[in-house]
Amino acid sequence: QVVTRFAPSPTGFLHIGGGRTALFNWLYARGRGGKFLLRIEDTDRERSTPEATAAILKGLSWLGLDWDGEVVSQFDRRGRHAEVAHEMLARGTAYKCFSTPEEIAAFRAEAEAKGASYAVFQSPWRDADPASYPDAPYAIRMKAPRDGVTEIRDEVQGIVTIRNETLDDMIVLRSDGTPTYMLAVVVDDHDMGVTHVIRGDDHLNNAGRQQMVYDAMGWPVPVWAHIPLIHGPDGKKLSKRHGATGVEEYQAMGYPAAGMRNYLTRLGWAHGDAEIFTSAEAMTMFDLKGIGRAPARLDFRKLENTCGHHLAMTADAALLHELEAFLVAAGRPALTDTQRDRLSRGLYCVKDRAKTFPELLEKAEFALTSRPVAPDEAAAKTLDSVSRGILKSLTPRLQNASWTKEGLETILNDAAAENGIGFGKLAAPLRAALAGRTATPSVFDMMLVIGRDETIARLLDAGA
Ligand code: GLU
Repeated sequence: QVVTRFAPSPTGFLHIGGGRTALFNWLYARGRGGKFLLRIEDTDRERSTPEATAAILKGLSWLGLDWDGEVVSQFDRRGRHAEVAHEMLARGTAYKCFSTPEEIAAFRAEAEAKGASYAVFQSPWRDADPASYPDAPYAIRMKAPRDGVTEIRDEVQGIVTIRNETLDDMIVLRSDGTPTYMLAVVVDDHDMGVTHVIRGDDHLNNAGRQQMVYDAMGWPVPVWAHIPLIHGPDGKKLSKRHGATGVEEYQAMGYPAAGMRNYLTRLGWAHGDAEIFTSAEAMTMFDLKGIGRAPARLDFRKLENTCGHHLAMTADAALLHELEAFLVAAGRPALTDTQRDRLSRGLYCVKDRAKTFPELLEKAEFALTSRPVAPDEAAAKTLDSVSRGILKSLTPRLQNASWTKEGLETILNDAAAENGIGFGKLAAPLRAALAGRTATPSVFDMMLVIGRDETIARLLDAGA
């Protein structure tokens, strides 16, 4: 069974790079009947905060990335990490090192003075006789191979070789008894049964050291897949100056989660020419082969386009539900019953023209506004005395019209013909009266959605 995991450090919000890493792990597991686990790497007590953990969980939930089982706290497992370090001692793949920080610093200084480009600390305790051990605090160090190479078979990066002489006997348990990050990650991944480690390629170097820990414990090494980081549109490392970098910022801007998932799936992964797909489709298509080796560039226009497609694709009831969740999250007033009712009937005529929820709300203004409708400046201009007269001639007809698209079409076309004007000349003041705007859905759609009484009342308000 495939088991993947997302292992964020809770030191801030959920970065969109992290969101994408989580998404790739989620897709890979969900598409294979596997498990997707969540581990909070909170061993750095100074930088980890409960607020950051909450923000990460919130971001994942908004993205729709559900995890299996309980959230694992790495810090809570420190006892187990120490146990494994001692097991390594017992296996002879690690040793007690009594070197003091001063001795280590002196070793480095000497190596540097000799002109070494890197100074790998070689502990004098590596092969020391336990009989010579002092009664002093010690760290546990891995007995790393000194020659040869460590080969990382990475599903994205190919085979990456690390010369063992460049790696020191890293500490797995500090002299104060706390585990190092490198040990904790491996022990946790092993104990959680993780089969595939999919993460940012900033961790590729760690994989070499981590693989040594697997070997030292005789544990199977997981499948590695180190994915290139996300860059800004200019090809430089993504930063605030390019725009929003936090998942929560995209939520706040009103991008639909399904569109965001679709866009992030395509960010650095491709499958033929598939661009717009549902998450169910993505699960069946997603594989490690499709992950590119070059950093993906964030493309805000493409993000908007993708989101636009998803707003149009989403069923009305689900869309309304998401829209209301957006209003709550944004601290905006909730919909009144009338607004909800009109919106649920009117979403069909606005949802294929918006990319975000605020845009959707803007286009749906005719359904949200209440009487008297306040026309904006451009709309007000179309409501002159001539057009008021035209609207006046319309109201009695609307009274008796059959309230269907065909019925309304007949009435409006007749009215335009009788006034000797084109349909556009009639529609402009009608839009202004009904929505207070000049750019609106079709007048027929608006009239059908708000109904006969409201339509006539708005026309009368506008001076008909
Ligand atoms: N905690 C690490 C990070 O947030 C991830 C470690 C891993 O995925 O192995 O970058």
